[in-house]
Amino acid sequence: MSPTSTASKKREKKLADVDGELCGICQACATVCPVNAIEVTEGYILVLPEKCTGCGTCVKVCPVGAITLIDR
Ligand code: SF4
Ligand code: SF4
Repeated sequence: MSPTSTASKKREKKLADVDGELCGICQACATVCPVNAIEVTEGYILVLPEKCTGCGTCVKVCPVGAITLIDR
């Protein structure tokens, strides 16, 4: 296996994790997620692990830093 594909595999193992204490439910993350892995339900933000690719886009747009990428 090439080093490149190994790195790519590692990235895919990441999952967005929302800190409910910080999140203001502005929905910015749900809007930018390229694979629609973030759902806004009543009172909280839900990341669908089976959809999330760990791309990190939501982490960058969250105005309060409530999202981190965690290892699966
Ligand atoms: S890390 Fe990427 S795929 Fe996962 S929830 Fe955030 S924007 Fe969507
Ligand atoms: S962008 Fe941040 S504050 Fe806004 S809904 Fe998503 S996690 Fe919550």
